[in-house]
Amino acid sequence: MSAAKTEDISTVDVGIVGGGPAGLMSAILLARRGITAAVIEQRSEQEIRTTHRA
Ligand SMILES: Cc1cc2nc3c(=O)[nH]c(=O)nc-3n(C[C@H](O)[C@H](O)[C@H](O)COP(=O)(O)OP(=O)(O)OC[C@H]3O[C@@H](n4cnc5c(N)ncnc54)[C@H](O)[C@@H]3O)c2cc1C
Repeated sequence: MSAAKTEDISTVDVGIVGGGPAGLMSAILLARRGITAAVIEQRSEQEIRTTHRA
C-alpha cells in the first residue's frame, strides 16, 4: 500500500474511499494478493493520527 499524496493513482487496480480501519485493512489485504490500491481520505493525516481510540 502506498500513502504518497502525490503519487499517480491512475494505474492502481482498486480505489478505496476512506482511510479508516476498514479501508486500510482492505488495502493491506489486497496488497498481500498483489493487487494495488489507492486509499482516498478526506481528512488530513494529522487529524487521523490524533483520533483517539482505546
Ligand atoms: C467517539 C468514538 C470512539 C471510538 N473509540 C473506539 C475505540 O476506542 N476502539 C475501537 O476499536 N473502536 C472505537 N470506535 C469505533 C471505531 O472508530 C469504528 O468501529 C471504526 O472507525 C469503523 O471503521 P471504518 O473504516 O468502517 O469507518 P471510519 O473509521 O469512519 O472510516 C471512514 C473514513 O472514510 C472517510 N470518508 C468518508 N467519506 C469520504 C469521502 N467521500 N471521501 C474521502 N474520504 C471519506 C472518513 O473521513 C473516514 O476517515 C469509536 C468510534 C467513535 C465514534
